[in-house]
Amino acid sequence: MTRPVAIITGASRGIGKAIALELAALGYDLVISHFDFDSTGQPDDAAAKAAAAEISRAGAACRELRADVSKAADRAALVDLARQAFGRCDLLVNNAGIAPQRRVDLLEATEESFDRVLAVNLKGPYFLTQLVARWMVEQRRQDPRGPLRIVNVGSISAFTSSPARGEYCISKAGVGMMTALFADRLAECTIGVFEVRPGIIATDMTAAVREKYDRLIAEGITPLKRWGTPQDVAAAVGAIATGKLDFSTGQVINVDGGFQIRRL
Ligand code: NAD
Repeated sequence: MTRPVAIITGASRGIGKAIALELAALGYDLVISHFDFDSTGQPDDAAAKAAAAEISRAGAACRELRADVSKAADRAALVDLARQAFGRCDLLVNNAGIAPQRRVDLLEATEESFDRVLAVNLKGPYFLTQLVARWMVEQRRQDPRGPLRIVNVGSISAFTSSPARGEYCISKAGVGMMTALFADRLAECTIGVFEVRPGIIATDMTAAVREKYDRLIAEGITPLKRWGTPQDVAAAVGAIATGKLDFSTGQVINVDGGFQIRRL
């Protein structure tokens, strides 16, 4: 039997890598991307190569590519790699994302940071999804039944105001509408589109604010008083990838320890 293939952006570490390992365990072959730099600002492919090796050891074929999701040429190269290596894409996971380089108050934040965060977190996934969706529509014509799915990794920042990183919140609010739009448009081709919405997850992205979040979690900001793990998020993507939620296209799956519950 042909193995299904997933493209995952930003899978050199953190949530993306955990998703890649989960999908490898579920029998997917993988194309993973990253855009890492070392502490001196030089391109650094070491973590991505290590992730690819770990995925291969888990039994999946894996190709990795350094590709900036905000750049059209890099998005095209990623999709071309999947076409050349595997000739199919059954699942796209838009995971790559960045926080603003510095947390800056809404009244001081720069247009430059706004443009960069929106380009990576929203414009990039939006147009990568467009590219992959066109290919999935072709695949659907050839195979009327094979499962085809898209997962966007959003954030509780879609509905939670953090005035020191407004551009991030806006980008993730946009991902919410992006999920609804593509779910609506692609339903006629039975391509499911979902958002997985993490809360506070222990990764490099939150390392700089670990102490602040340790305190907030201890004080009960989330009903479940612990950090989320990349594996918590990966398990939700796994449930989608195995077809358990196929009639729920357009849904947001919260992976946040209950953060979204209004409490009194
Ligand atoms: P991370 O910083 O640990 O990893 C980010 C990954 O994205 C890396 O593989 C990196 O190479 C890649 N990346 C960065 N810029 C890129 C670009 N321009 N093009 C392509 N790839 C790029 O982050 P993480 O915490 O694992 O976050 C993964 C996703 O989850 C992001 O979309 C993030 O916004 C979201 N999220 C994270 C948290 C959290 O608490 N960590 C919470 C909610 C949502």
